[in-house]
Amino acid sequence: MGITSDRAIERHYKCDRNGKPDLVIEGGTIVTVKDDMPVIKNGRVEISGRSISRILSHEERMACPTDCSDVIVADGTIVMPGLVNCHTHSAMTLFRGMADDLPLKKWLFEKIFPAEATFLSPETAYLGSLLACIEMLASGTTCFMDGYFFEDSLAHAALETGIRVIAGQGVIDFPAPGIPDPSANILVAREFAEKWSGFSDLIKPAIFCHSPVTCSGKTLSYACETCRVLGIPLFIHLSETRLEVEEVIRKSGKRPAHYLDSLGILDENLVAVHNVYLDESEIDLLASKGVRTVHAPESNMKLASGMAPISKMISRGLRPGLGTDGCASNNNLDMFGEMDTAAKAAKIQAGDPTVMSSKTLLKMVTSWGSAVGGLNGQIGTIEVGKEADVIIVDAKRPHMRPLYDPISSLVYCAGGSDVRDVIVAGKILMKDRKFLAIEPSDIIKEIKRLGGLIEKSLLQAQVAGI
Ligand SMILES: [Zn+2]
Repeated sequence: MGITSDRAIERHYKCDRNGKPDLVIEGGTIVTVKDDMPVIKNGRVEISGRSISRILSHEERMACPTDCSDVIVADGTIVMPGLVNCHTHSAMTLFRGMADDLPLKKWLFEKIFPAEATFLSPETAYLGSLLACIEMLASGTTCFMDGYFFEDSLAHAALETGIRVIAGQGVIDFPAPGIPDPSANILVAREFAEKWSGFSDLIKPAIFCHSPVTCSGKTLSYACETCRVLGIPLFIHLSETRLEVEEVIRKSGKRPAHYLDSLGILDENLVAVHNVYLDESEIDLLASKGVRTVHAPESNMKLASGMAPISKMISRGLRPGLGTDGCASNNNLDMFGEMDTAAKAAKIQAGDPTVMSSKTLLKMVTSWGSAVGGLNGQIGTIEVGKEADVIIVDAKRPHMRPLYDPISSLVYCAGGSDVRDVIVAGKILMKDRKFLAIEPSDIIKEIKRLGGLIEKSLLQAQVAGI
């Protein structure tokens, strides 16, 4: 850079000093994930309060020494937006590894539903959710979309750990944990949503209807209407299995997306998860109605449900987020692993290595994901004015070098354990892989105790032939 432009930069930045930032990330390769995916090498991100206040290139940074006392040195790292996990059931961490290698129907009806009925309580759901929150933060997820029972416990766990969440109280037309009378399911969800609306900037409520098979048309319509009145999103599992599609057709004469449309619930407020068996007309229908969609390939693969036509969905204008699903069908919440799997599975599905590029995957877990969560103006990119949900990924480890293309390396080389620092809304939650405000070992100790009790109880049931 020449003398003239150096001086111009100096002049500009001297003029631009409007108070000191509260936190500065100095150095590192900044992957902004803005539309044209600009990458800034050896730059600086300044944070004031909750928000990103300034982003400097290397040259600008050199011309403008920082006077902030709170500096994170990020040389040799990748600085990027925090990841958005668009679908999980947090407290299911309690059932991680408990019922693997089973078909979905057997897994769900013979293992998961009975385990939930026996072991889920507000206390165990809180503990399982705490475990999920620390697992997600430690692997770079700063925002997630959850749908389960005892969602109040999940919201408290999120509050405790400082992670951002869109929390959907579960609705199903059977007696469920915390809701013995299914006729009260929407009422419980409504009370949850009203309690948490406006309670914390980091927690947004939602309603989660389990599926078009496990919720009646009446329940789905009522949930949709409640969500519209409260201005909150409605989540649903859609077309997850072939059996589900067949059952919906048998009962309604329509494919699942057309069935939901006939109920009047397909709109921009609906978040449809899985979408494995969408046909061409259903993809177009979801796109034309602006439905938000979520892809959860690892769970679909583990339960051999199938694979959503994800590259076709994107080519028709849908902008899906990516989700891990719950820990009983994944079995982890690592969004870096999910990106890698999603890219490779789509390539083998299409017989085309050019589909689902690393840029597309990175958008799915950041900018598109934040839009799926209804937070697109707020998070999802490194951009001035956005909330400072930022993660710093260690790029000095052997599997990250050489670093020709940081976006490609994030998708195909990085893992959750490469995340070094985590910031949510301007607050450092994890620094050098150490949590600052919570003690994970205390949570893990409690989980170990609870896991022991669950295991003992399962063994006793097995011996008794239950
Ligand atoms: Zn799910």
